[in-house]
Amino acid sequence: MEIIKEPSALRELAGQWTRQGRTVGFVPTMGYLHAGHESLMHLARGRAETVVASVFVNPTQFGPGEDLDAYPRDLDRDAAMAKAAGVDVLFAPSPEAMYEPAAATWVEVPTLARHLCGASRPTHFRGVCTVVSKLFLLVRPALAVFGQKDWQQLAILRRMNADLGFGVEIVGGPIVREADGLALSSRNVRLTPEERGQAPGINQGLALAEAMVRDGEADAGRILDAVRAHYAAHVPLGEIDYLSCVDPDSLETLETIDRPALFATAVRFSAVRLIDNRLAATVSR
Ligand code: AMP
Repeated sequence: MEIIKEPSALRELAGQWTRQGRTVGFVPTMGYLHAGHESLMHLARGRAETVVASVFVNPTQFGPGEDLDAYPRDLDRDAAMAKAAGVDVLFAPSPEAMYEPAAATWVEVPTLARHLCGASRPTHFRGVCTVVSKLFLLVRPALAVFGQKDWQQLAILRRMNADLGFGVEIVGGPIVREADGLALSSRNVRLTPEERGQAPGINQGLALAEAMVRDGEADAGRILDAVRAHYAAHVPLGEIDYLSCVDPDSLETLETIDRPALFATAVRFSAVRLIDNRLAATVSR
């Protein structure tokens, strides 16, 4: 596996792959890799001749006061994991290499970005869209794999890809969880032991919502009340940033569950904010 730090070197290599007609699969990450990232790399490995992964803690997707500086980083460990997962090229640029000092261009999908995480992180998704656009232009992948853990990000990037005509096949990978159900996240290491003990309750609350839908409850308000009560009882150290029931494509609020519904939440602990979601569908009887 080759590690590339300079965008120009990656552009050059990607140009060669294009001329050779090679199918390139791409997995963008912020590093501090875990089994969730690995699963995306395996998906790409199974579908592409060449796999590129990136590790870049993208400053433009962090707002003021967010955890940009505290975000965990370990490139040596990431490189070993990426190599073992079958990655051919790991792109690990510096912020200075990715952004010119005078950079002034943003890529935005405001309609989808204002929901869910966008309400408390108003500039987050334009940072994501801008960096993913830049990465797509460098790597020119045939396909790119993103995790369903960041459901809103996936929906926004699908829209962006279609609207700007990148022509990349966007693949969504399922959420990988710890044995106790907590969704894997690079940020989990920043939970205190007590918070870590309560954090699986986030997924349990969403699973409760899924079970209520399966049992025929169609009133989203009643379900959300039950999940809130679960959080109050089992995740008292977490403060709910949002807990919503939305249409999985438009991300608009759903009051009545008459179609598949996404239950999505963000919960703040002392040093980290965790997100999770579950898609619930009524079972036709
Ligand atoms: P991040 O490094 O957190 O920016 O995530 C990089 C990619 O990995 C994104 O597409 C995430 O959605 C995905 N990802 C993060 N955590 C998980 C997980 N637990 N299961 C599946 N995919 C994940």
